[in-house]
Amino acid sequence: ATATTQKLWYDGELADPRALQATLGTHAMHYGSGVFEGIRAYATKRGAAVFRLAEHMERMRKGAEALGMRFDPAQATEAVLATMRANRHGDAYIRPLAWYGDGGFGLDVEGKPEHLMVATTATNVHLGGNRTRVSVSKWRRNPADSLPPLKLCGAYVNSILAKRDAKGRGFDEAMFTDADGFVVECTGANLFMVRGGKVTAVEHRDALPGITRDTLIQLTGAESRPVRFEEFVEADEVFACGTAAEVAPIAEIDGHAFRDSVVTREIAAAYAAAVRGESRTGAHWLTEV
Ligand code: PMP
Repeated sequence: ATATTQKLWYDGELADPRALQATLGTHAMHYGSGVFEGIRAYATKRGAAVFRLAEHMERMRKGAEALGMRFDPAQATEAVLATMRANRHGDAYIRPLAWYGDGGFGLDVEGKPEHLMVATTATNVHLGGNRTRVSVSKWRRNPADSLPPLKLCGAYVNSILAKRDAKGRGFDEAMFTDADGFVVECTGANLFMVRGGKVTAVEHRDALPGITRDTLIQLTGAESRPVRFEEFVEADEVFACGTAAEVAPIAEIDGHAFRDSVVTREIAAAYAAAVRGESRTGAHWLTEV
């Protein structure tokens, strides 16, 4: 939870969140015209460090570009680091958001005010939690030719619908498959499978190009290819991965149980070492606060 002493970065200044408000005409609130990131920082031997900050900023830049925003990754980077310093975090979740503000109910975004905020929360979520129970969503993932797989605010209504549906049926999380039977991703995480010791990253054009996914491919040498659902459920182990989820073992998909998560837990440990700067791979992935 956010401590009351914590600061939030808003349009160039660190402020007390209680002193900040968005107006009811906020364009992003009506139409989802914003872009965000989900980033993590970890306590390391050399102090707090943000994991793969440059890559998160680049993905946010792409989303901002799609929305026609004047987004400056260098400014956003500074905002992230300034907020982290102000809040003296070790392990933290970082949420930058750029959005269109008040300026009428038209869909045109030209001339609308642009805002940028960065919030951080201390996080105690660690690897190796409970194995997730997943259900295939009745909803399809936003197709990439309708909505680019970027972290655009409005796109997440699709994830909310899928998650609500899965939870309502007693599962923890939803996964999407496409109309041709290929696996896409989860509501906020990418998917991997392990079979006979071979690690495969599920590839799909409608899925967010995950930074955790990329990290795990580099750490494990996993292949990346499209995977059909029938093949996916026949794997020895499957797991989801994302900045917030880290490496999340999956126990079950719609009643199909996966016996254990032995390889997944090894991969989770390798990821945990990398994010804390304790692995040979990826020292350049850390930005010290
Ligand atoms: N897919 C979706 C839909 C997501 O929201 C996320 C979280 N950003 C991911 C995958 C995983 O991406 P990353 O590893 O970059 O956090």
